[in-house]
Amino acid sequence: MKNLEFKFEDFTASDFINNAIENKVSVVETTKYFLERCKNDKKNALLEVFEKDALKRAEELSHKTIRGKLFGLPVIIKDNILYKGHISSAASKMLEDFISPYNSTVVQKLLDEDAIILGRSNMDEFAMGTTGSNSAFGITKNGTDDNLVSGGSSSGSASALASGLCLAALGTDTGGSVRLPAAWNKLVGFKPTYGSISRYGLIAFASSIEQCGIFTKNVTDLSLLYSVLSGKDENDASSVCYVHDTHKMLCPTPKIGRIKEITYPKEYQPFLKDTVEISIPNLSLSLAGYYTVATAEAASNLDRFDGVKYGSTVKDAESVGDLYTNVRTKYFGTEVKRRIITGNYNLSNENYDIYKMGTAVIRDLKKTFEKVFQNVDAILLPTASIPPVKLHEDMTDPLKLYNMDLYTVTANVTGIPSVTLPVLPTGLQILAARGNDYLLFNIARRFEK
Ligand code: GLN
Repeated sequence: MKNLEFKFEDFTASDFINNAIENKVSVVETTKYFLERCKNDKKNALLEVFEKDALKRAEELSHKTIRGKLFGLPVIIKDNILYKGHISSAASKMLEDFISPYNSTVVQKLLDEDAIILGRSNMDEFAMGTTGSNSAFGITKNGTDDNLVSGGSSSGSASALASGLCLAALGTDTGGSVRLPAAWNKLVGFKPTYGSISRYGLIAFASSIEQCGIFTKNVTDLSLLYSVLSGKDENDASSVCYVHDTHKMLCPTPKIGRIKEITYPKEYQPFLKDTVEISIPNLSLSLAGYYTVATAEAASNLDRFDGVKYGSTVKDAESVGDLYTNVRTKYFGTEVKRRIITGNYNLSNENYDIYKMGTAVIRDLKKTFEKVFQNVDAILLPTASIPPVKLHEDMTDPLKLYNMDLYTVTANVTGIPSVTLPVLPTGLQILAARGNDYLLFNIARRFEK
């Protein structure tokens, strides 16, 4: 088949799949095409290309007559999503050689629908970061501009899609790690309702707020991938099957809110016409609630990396205590250590009130949002608080970086779905009530036009 007359990287996922299903393009040829692009990755977006595997799969798929919903789709996954038999390192020296013993549910679902996983993408170590600069394997360049960072923590997935190495990508979003790099790479990025996509087989950072998220070029592709990945999973006790009521999904005249307490940059004004004013006085507390709970859960989740149970180890320890100390000192990066120390501090006997305050703030926010969503169907916010950071800018001040998450963390701590659209350098974020993911897509489509 004469595939090479096409520039496949310009396809949307949905168009590509239709062509592949109808044999208008050959999956073997297109897989080779994207693998070539992946091997020439100039952005440090990928940590590994699964060349042999992807090709073998493409060969097998090409003989199938009944074809899945994602037939032949070239996908990149973030390096904290387990793919059986492949390394998942969470971009950490701690897991540099860790081979996944099983498939995460999201990977299994991709494979069941005939997608092809081309490689694993760079990220901030253990998904802790906002610019991508915390990877143990170097920073990722923005997929649209070499002078800019890609944004984190799912830096590689965003850059890979934006630079045409794949047609869709998965990330994880604990506090904005899909939406922020999506905005900075001019992509659509999505964090689903908490529980609607299984977390089974993700390397955990902060379990009560994180979700697998999706990068695509448009909302139609997003909706397709979400329909494949979402659903109750008996391997994840926090997963929920949302029954999407058709009335809510369609909602002919959605009421959209803008938040009284924040100043929307002037570029957002055109999007704010016809919106109604709502009040969320505690919005800015999201950040404090997020960093309290995220660090506490990180400290406890990362406890398992001790040189015995999982991950890298050292040979020169004289006692068990020594072993733990040496391993964790040697293989964790600075930001990961900072979060473990902060988290354990907040959870300690003397300071436990900090943790309690964090959870109280989050409880209040959830209540506020529940009330607000009785009056509006969606809320508009910027995604990133600033345009993409320059590649060589100093990115060592943690508070400066934490503040960049101002607009994204709210959706995580309250568990609501949120999508970012590539309409401004900082993205346009739309949030909806818990379980209204499809309504959110339908509202997003209007703004996309
Ligand atoms: N920037 C946030 C943090 O560093 C978000 C991380 C994420 O979503 N994984 O915690």
